[in-house]
Amino acid sequence: MVRHRSTYGVVQSGRCRYDVGLFLMFLDLDANATYPCDEELQGVIAGALRSLGNPSALHRGGQRARAAVEEARAVVRSLVGAGPHDQVIFTSGATEANNTVIASAAATPGPLVSSHIEHPCVLAPLRELERDGRDVRLVAPSSDGEVVVSAVGAALSPDVSLVSIMAANNETGVRNDIAEIVRHVRSVAPLAHMHTDAAQCIGKGEVSFTNLGVDSLTVSGHKFGALSGVGALVIREGVVLRPLLRGGAQESKLRGGTENVLGIVSLAVAAERVMKTQEERVARMRELRDRFERELCQRVERCEFNGTQVDRLPNTSSVFFEGVRADDLVVALDLEGILVSAGAACSSGKPEPSHVLLAMGQPEARVRSTVRISFRADQTAADLDRALDGIARAVSRMRGHMEGRDAA
Ligand code: PLP
Repeated sequence: MVRHRSTYGVVQSGRCRYDVGLFLMFLDLDANATYPCDEELQGVIAGALRSLGNPSALHRGGQRARAAVEEARAVVRSLVGAGPHDQVIFTSGATEANNTVIASAAATPGPLVSSHIEHPCVLAPLRELERDGRDVRLVAPSSDGEVVVSAVGAALSPDVSLVSIMAANNETGVRNDIAEIVRHVRSVAPLAHMHTDAAQCIGKGEVSFTNLGVDSLTVSGHKFGALSGVGALVIREGVVLRPLLRGGAQESKLRGGTENVLGIVSLAVAAERVMKTQEERVARMRELRDRFERELCQRVERCEFNGTQVDRLPNTSSVFFEGVRADDLVVALDLEGILVSAGAACSSGKPEPSHVLLAMGQPEARVRSTVRISFRADQTAADLDRALDGIARAVSRMRGHMEGRDAA
């Protein structure tokens, strides 16, 4: 039972304390990590909590839950521009969707092709298969961070069974031309399963499953305003995959386990909002990000942006600050109430430098001095000014300390 709610948004329940006000108090420039669930969605979730049962139950509570899940499936199909007979399988997130595709491909003979800049939830299972003797071919990106079609082509052979290339990178925001990669893969390796991890793309520009031509595509709910812990794998009609989670007939026998109905409802609500408002949100994110980059260069010397010469997500800025340790800058900004990330959220906290920037050929010192700033469309000009002031102040203070130490 919830016992106490303070003005700072702390909910105390028994021995557990939840700081529910975090994103209200801070300037959150880490949208690529998790996009907060807003009040409208919280209302829908509260309603769903009271009324939805187990979709496999035969009674009315179950049927209501089943109807909500099926409605959400249709919404996700529209969100990603899939056809009416393409399958949508709800998962616990992008990690599970990606693991499902890789585990399924592992059961078919043939080399597996991917890139060095994929999320760890793609790279880790592939590396495990490689250790077990599987032919795994990882493609390097260009120095701008793009996985170009010629590089993928060089890794192909007619017996390749899987090609998995992300649609946009979570650290640099750089987009890959998946439709062109698919066309090339089909001409060389016609039996290959073509997968793309589009976790970072939803809400940041149109995604068309049909036009991309892939066999499967990964979606993550918490990257566009749904709850964390829900996602989807979209599978082209007629394509057969093996389930990763077995022991239940749910999700057309492709994902055993009772559906996360609340998460699925939240995914549909967030998806509907994306479809309604995407155009203006993308324009707004681009305006914020571009103004940020323009003005940051004027205010802070010796900073450079990654991926500006190629197609990028509209909200992401990957910035190198010469002479400033990214981990220290993240902490310094946190003290100013500004949330940014050093590399990917999933790997921050670990001392290893970003595998993405290293794969782009950057020296380790530069990689360790790069932060990711990712905007949301609801942020204001005042938020942007606060970010610019905070970053300029923190970088100058940190460089001052460094120079003082060098002189001493
Ligand atoms: N793929 C990409 C490109 C991501 O950015 C992330 C999360 O950061 C994931 C996969 C993992 O997503 P999830 O948290 O839904 O498992």
